[in-house]
Amino acid sequence: MKTVIGIVTDPVHPKLLTLLEEKGFKFDYLPDISKEELARVISNYNYIIIRGRTRLDREVLVNASNLSVIIRYGVGLDNIDLDYAKEKGIKVYNTPSAFTEAVAELTLGLIIGLLRNIGEAHRSLVNGKWEKKRFQGFELAGKTVAILGFGRIGRRVADLLMPFDVTILAYDIIPIPDSYIEKGVKPVESIEEAIEEADIITIHMPLTKETKDLINYELLKKAKKKPFIVNTARGKIVNHDDLIRALSEGLIRGAALDVFYEEPVKDERLLKMENVLLTPHIGAQTLEAREKAAYEVIKILKREFRENI
Ligand code: NAD
Repeated sequence: MKTVIGIVTDPVHPKLLTLLEEKGFKFDYLPDISKEELARVISNYNYIIIRGRTRLDREVLVNASNLSVIIRYGVGLDNIDLDYAKEKGIKVYNTPSAFTEAVAELTLGLIIGLLRNIGEAHRSLVNGKWEKKRFQGFELAGKTVAILGFGRIGRRVADLLMPFDVTILAYDIIPIPDSYIEKGVKPVESIEEAIEEADIITIHMPLTKETKDLINYELLKKAKKKPFIVNTARGKIVNHDDLIRALSEGLIRGAALDVFYEEPVKDERLLKMENVLLTPHIGAQTLEAREKAAYEVIKILKREFRENI
């Protein structure tokens, strides 16, 4: 029986390392390894577990003669040369479902935080002020929420929104599941229709060639109700300058963003705005999500190397 050995090349939750040990997977943990060093040693390993830091491009993968599995502990696969990995017969996995609940709950938090000015009210209070009148907000009940991208997270956001007595519009390039239509979710045919009707727009589609800059000034001009916009998906889906322009001109009332066009975000025009609520890409940062992702990694490894462990 062949001995399987892996390498973990980014800092990961301790739970993952404990589980790997408990389940008998051999691995080296080198969370600071340089690209050059990895390229030198990668041929020793059968699987690799990475997060966002490690770049598995052609220069590294060319030496990966024994590698059969790449696991991205997390979601984004943009740090992996997927075409080349495929060409070499290396399977690539990620752990997206582990983060659904965390991102959906943060989205709810951001929606309510934005409607009630929670961020700005906090800042005002800790700066010694008591500005009750300044912070008149809006209730979620009775509003129309457009969910753009109705996959795992979009659907979970819909579940969480339902008790709030809102109208939920769903836009996706694939059909909205009947089970959600039965629960009252209204599918819309076009993104324009969603933007026109919404009081709140929340984005849950992936970043692709088609979705980059999809939310831009021209589209936001179609909004009839001065909506709030929430983005916990990927920053580049919303054109940065257009968002600032739409916020400044009052086309949209406010924006809550967990993700940014450039991260970390440094643009003072955005950072200084009062009608924004900003978090540093913390969507997946819950203890539970990290643990669920660790279990998903183990499941993948067990499936891939069952006979060899
Ligand atoms: P998913 O694949 O389950 O759902 C994405 C949905 O978007 C799919 O239903 C797909 O058909 C739809 N879609 C794709 N292209 C579209 C388009 N052009 N127009 C409309 N809809 C389109 O993914 P998910 O697990 O729900 O995650 C959604 C996104 O959330 C991810 O792509 C990721 O970028 C982001 N995310 C962010 C964090 C964070 O930390 N903030 C964490 C996890 C995921």
